[in-house]
Amino acid sequence: MNYDLGSTPFVGASPDFLHFVNLCEQVRVTKSKNMKVGLLSRYLSSMDDKSLITAVLFLSSRIFPLGSKFVINVGFSTIMQILSEISFLDKDQIHQNYLQYGDMGALAEYATSKKHTVSLTQQQPLTLHVVYEGFKKIAGITGSDSSKVKKNILKGLFLDCSPLEAKYLTKIINGEMRIGLTEGLVEVGVALAFNVEHGKIREAMLVSGDISQIALLAKRGLLYTAVIKPFQPIGYMLADVMFGADEIVNYFQKSLICEYKYDGIRAQMHKFGQQVKIFSRNMTDITDAFPELVDAAINSKLSSSMESIDFILDGEIMAIRNDKPLHFQELQKRLRRKNVTGQIIAEVPVVYAVFDIALIDGEQTIMKPLKQRKEILSRIFFKKPIVNTKHNVVNTAQEIIAKFDESRDIGYEGLVLKEPESQYHPGKRGRYWIKLKRELDTIDAVIVIAEYGHGKRAGVLSDYTFAVRDENNDNQLRIIGKAYSGLTDKEIDTITKQLRSIMIKDNGYGIVVKPELILEISFDSIQKSDRHDSGFALRFPRIKNIRCDKNIKDIDTLQKVRRIYENQTYLNAK
Ligand code: AMP
Repeated sequence: MNYDLGSTPFVGASPDFLHFVNLCEQVRVTKSKNMKVGLLSRYLSSMDDKSLITAVLFLSSRIFPLGSKFVINVGFSTIMQILSEISFLDKDQIHQNYLQYGDMGALAEYATSKKHTVSLTQQQPLTLHVVYEGFKKIAGITGSDSSKVKKNILKGLFLDCSPLEAKYLTKIINGEMRIGLTEGLVEVGVALAFNVEHGKIREAMLVSGDISQIALLAKRGLLYTAVIKPFQPIGYMLADVMFGADEIVNYFQKSLICEYKYDGIRAQMHKFGQQVKIFSRNMTDITDAFPELVDAAINSKLSSSMESIDFILDGEIMAIRNDKPLHFQELQKRLRRKNVTGQIIAEVPVVYAVFDIALIDGEQTIMKPLKQRKEILSRIFFKKPIVNTKHNVVNTAQEIIAKFDESRDIGYEGLVLKEPESQYHPGKRGRYWIKLKRELDTIDAVIVIAEYGHGKRAGVLSDYTFAVRDENNDNQLRIIGKAYSGLTDKEIDTITKQLRSIMIKDNGYGIVVKPELILEISFDSIQKSDRHDSGFALRFPRIKNIRCDKNIKDIDTLQKVRRIYENQTYLNAK
């Protein structure tokens, strides 16, 4: 592919935040992907190290590098409050404008243009580095009045911003740049900026997963040094979905590795020396919730020599008693505990089912084919409750169906079929792993509106309108239904508190919330409908789980909804 470098206007690579936001605007209004990449590469090519790191993170809709312990946790309502404090707009006007623009970035731009307060401290233009350090400060604040302190730091940043800078500051905080750049395109921009093959960037991304580190290595000509590092989680390889054994067999036309699909939480375990860390799907450190897994990891050995080993594992933690999987919510109970006592460990026993390995004793294994990684895993003697997942090789649709039924009989969700020759692709959803579930799959959607219930549920927010993202339209949220069954009273109480903390607007009968809380929804079928802006509606939706382990980036797409819709006749006929 040729990327257009010549005809695009040069933006300049100063560390100023204003230059960065000007670049973003140019990228946003440029339709052609080649030209977007061209703009980007010229901008990145002459940046200093610190600004480069920050720019690629922000452009990839990230604030901190993958695996960083920092999270800024600033809600819509805090930003709205700041905007009303620094401008001539009162709270109501801010809400009205938000409803009019439907976009926090645009609202911030407008409100900042009506600023009545100016910064007393700002002497120089805002730089990328100052913005990044501000975010880091906000993320590091804890304690009783942390929200007040966070708000003050952020307010300082907004005061230093021009309207356009405020727009992008808000977009960065919300993790949605919406300028038509994916992390993949940023990778191409980095490759072009530093004159390296895109393939080399991809390879390095495979081991690091951190675009900011890779950009810096590319700049220094050190891409070959990109390695997986202890206690720095790598992105998870993700599975695609297919809707029947025949579809899978027809697609692959070869033997596949077949495993049960466990209903727990994805976890990555790093063990180096006597230290162990466990990371959740969104890369948070959940080690403290599972002391028995830490103990088991330290006591796992190489079967041949019984020597201690270092490793990075991928697998699923699930609650299990007497060989029967417990409901996913039992596990959530344990995750919520600050202090995991012996009693809780006994009440909710867990198993860590390991299905992949990224590193063993200093050697990276992600480039090796899956069947070899499985062989490596089989050489490790795991101490319980860590176990190696059982796997089989299947060739025919009949074999897949038999395994599927076996999995469902035990109480698991279905199967994951894996291509034996495939490498481990961190952070990518591809057709190397395929999940197969009998029910019409589930949809991960985000709550956008919550309404008060009736009867014994009056006063609590028990009816939820939820949305998926429209991947063809800047990931805008599209509503696909409303659900009010599936949760216990206790869960509704908890979720009501959480929803109130992310409220954007009070409608009286309910509230509009910042899209943050993810629900896993099961349903009977999907219908076309003009009731919702997605054009679809779920029939008989039920809340299967509250997915605290997922965030807005993990919600399903309108394309998935469409695919389920198109495939359901086939499934119903089975
Ligand atoms: P979903 O969350 O529906 O996209 O399904 C994919 C998830 O299934 C993964 O992220 C894992 O958490 C989980 N899973 C359960 N069993 C397996 C398995 N054997 N291999 C891979 N993923 C699995």
